[in-house]
Formats: sequence, C-alpha cells, structure tokens
Amino acid sequence: MSRPYPLLKTPLPGPVAKAIVDRDRAFTSHAYLKEYPLVIARGEGVMVEDVDGNRFLDFMSGIAVSSTGYGHPKVIAAVQDAAARFLHICGSDFYFEGMAALCERLARLAPGSTPKRVFLTNSGTEATEGAIKLARHATRRTAIVAFKGAFHGRTTGALALTSSKARQHSGFGPLLPDVHHVAYPNRYRAAAGTTDAQLVAQSIAEFEGDLFTRHLDPKDVAAIFVEPIQGEGGYLFPPDGFLRALRDLCDRHGILLVFDEIQCGVGRTGTMWACQHEGVEPDIMLTAKGLGSGMPIGAFIARESVDEWQGGAHGSTFGGNPVCCAAALATLDLVENRLMANAARMGERLISGVRKLAERHEVIGDVRGRGLMVGMELVKDRGTKEANPEASRRLVDTAFQHGLLLLGCGKSVVRVAPPLVIDEVDIDRGLDLLGDSLQG
Ligand SMILES: *Cc1c(COP(=O)(O)O)cnc(C)c1O
Repeated sequence: MSRPYPLLKTPLPGPVAKAIVDRDRAFTSHAYLKEYPLVIARGEGVMVEDVDGNRFLDFMSGIAVSSTGYGHPKVIAAVQDAAARFLHICGSDFYFEGMAALCERLARLAPGSTPKRVFLTNSGTEATEGAIKLARHATRRTAIVAFKGAFHGRTTGALALTSSKARQHSGFGPLLPDVHHVAYPNRYRAAAGTTDAQLVAQSIAEFEGDLFTRHLDPKDVAAIFVEPIQGEGGYLFPPDGFLRALRDLCDRHGILLVFDEIQCGVGRTGTMWACQHEGVEPDIMLTAKGLGSGMPIGAFIARESVDEWQGGAHGSTFGGNPVCCAAALATLDLVENRLMANAARMGERLISGVRKLAERHEVIGDVRGRGLMVGMELVKDRGTKEANPEASRRLVDTAFQHGLLLLGCGKSVVRVAPPLVIDEVDIDRGLDLLGDSLQG
C-alpha cells in the first residue's frame, strides 16, 4: 500500500520553515532547547506535515503525547463540541458533567480495587506538585525519596525530585529540601549474570541497608516517587518484582508509594497503566502526557484513604478545563476500545524489528521495550557499554533528514514511541527508515 509519506520536497529545513525558525530564535526564551528544525503545519494519524509540504512519519508523538495520533475525528469532535458550549468555568469552584465523568472514569480505571479520588491538573509537573503536597499532608512527614535519572517535572517542587540532567538544576537552588535519591535498577548495566531477583534485592538493600540506616529515618519519609518505566532517564525497564518490592518496603514503613505514569501510562505499554504488568497498586498515581491526545491535562489519583485533605487545601483555576476533559474522555474511549490492544500488538512487531536492526548495527548496545515504548541504547563498544551520545544525536538528525521523527533520552538512548493508532504498514516503514538512518 502506498501512502503519501514520508515525502521530502525540499532540503530540511525548507525555506518557509527556515524563516519561522529564525523568527522563533530571535524572540523565544533561550531556555527552549529545540531538537531539530521541524516546523509543523498539520498532522493526520501518524503523519506530520511541515510548512514546506514535507511529510514525516512520527515515531515520537511529541514526547509520547499524541496518543491517538493527529486529528483523530472522535477527539476533534469532542473538543469542538465542548469548545462551542463553554471554554471555562473553574472546576475548583463549580460543577460540570465532563469533570465529574473524567474523575469517575480515572478513579475506576486506576490500578487496584480500593476506592480512589481524582484531582485534575494542566500538566505533568502539576500532578507531581499536588502529589508531593498530598503525601506530606496525609502522612505529616516531610521527606521524599526519588530515583536517580528520574524525571518528574520542572516546577520548583517537582524539580527537586527530577534527577535526569544537571542542566535542569543548575542555578536554581536551593531546591525543595529533604528530597533524597537512590539508584534506579539498571538491567543492562548490572554486573553480568545478575538476575532480576538479585537486582531487586540490591535496590531494596540501598534503602534498608544504606539510606534508611545512615541518612534518613524511614519514619520521616512521606513518599517514594517512582516511574514504573523510567522515561527521560533512558527508557529503563526495571527488573521484574521491583514495584512489588517497593510496595512491600513502603508498607513496612508507612510510606506512600507514588507511581509517575505520566509518560508510560494511558495504553502505551499495552495495558492502561504500566504498573498493571506487575499488578501493584500505588497510593497515588500521576498521569498527563497522552491523556488528552495533546490537550493539556493531567491528574493525580489517590486512594480514598489518602485523599484526606479538606476543601481549599489544593486548587487550580484551569485544571480540568472542560475542553481538555472532553479530549481526555474521548482519548480514554479510544485507548480502552482497541488502541491499547493495538499498542501491545504493534509493539511486538516494533521491538522484534528493532532487535533485527541491532543484529546488523554494532552501535545498538541494548533494545528494550513494552508495547509502543521502545528504547535503543547506543554505545561505543558492546563490551564496555560506554554511552555514545554523538551516535544517538546523529541518528535522530539523520532520521529527520529521512522523514522519520525520533527523539533521544537518557545519555545515549533513542526512544521509539509512535502514536497508538499506528498499523503494521507504518511500523515496517518506520523500521526501514530507521535502518536507512543507521546506515548514515
Ligand atoms: C513529561 C514528564 C513529566 C512532566 O510533565 P510536564 O507536562 O512536562 O510538566 C513528569 N513525569 C514524567 C515521567 C514525564 O515523562
């Protein structure tokens, strides 16, 4: 089947794109670190068209956000219908059906059987902020533990938990005090022959044998924040049993367990939430990114017993915006009915395709993934496993020149995270483009 993408009409960036890039560079904050000069004009499904009419296959979904692809008719219809009725009312103070429906839906969809309460936010980092506040309030403890390599957001509270790049902290201190970091277990870089069970034991020993004996009384710890799959840190999949062991650790010490599912949730790994692969229930769960198909919405979902704060303890003017709620409800309909199963099926095809590429390309040191969340770690040498950031930068840039949109993460990982609507034809096409791009 022939599809009208990728299609490259001009050298990249084309003339119209270049003019916009120049204008952008003249007036936007220096803080924006653009990846490559993609200037989008429109999108459809898994295709992105730029302002010069060049067409790309999207293997990154605007950082795992465009879950239902671009312009899904059901999402667009829901957004248009909601926008035509009212753009705003402030869900912290008034009622509307979409907010009640979305909170009900998320409470029921959240992992585990205990009753849940939902607070809606505008972004991922706000979900982290809310969860920090709620965890401290519910436990009357102050310390928070997070993992090295974690990304939980960039506002000043969440930033203290984030530990993925020094540049994200530089010049902003002092950050929120009483935040501690431990290593996230790394299967690829563990000593040869280490089993999952040993890796889990090592991680728990870092808490019980080190952090909790030398630095920090566990009775002072409000919460442990963890990504069930580390995203920005390099698409790291923890060993089997890790989340369960953290659950037990938290239960031993009365600590709340917070799962940040902002990147790995909403169907991407083939189940609604990534933690469902281990069947572990957190006390608080964070979601955002793919939840609204691109409309800005997030949430933190707490067990009823944890959500014990009083009216006015937390709030948001825009959080749970009616148009965003409508987009999220339409997205969840689509993800539940087909897309999450599609992600599981397409993911198998994608992962085995990337593994085949690894057989031919020495630079790929490791391939890991579940569903449509796949990481390729690029190395200088398979023996030493030395990270190869130049190669991952080059691959992302070359892929763009071939009409394939990719994005890096970690030190030298290239993530593959297409919209969940992708089919076999586009998986195979993307794999071919990936192969061409690895060639140079
Ligand atoms: C992107 C991300 C965040 C922050 O979300 P924003 O919407 O950018 O504030 C938090 N946690 C994880 C795991 C993320 O991937």
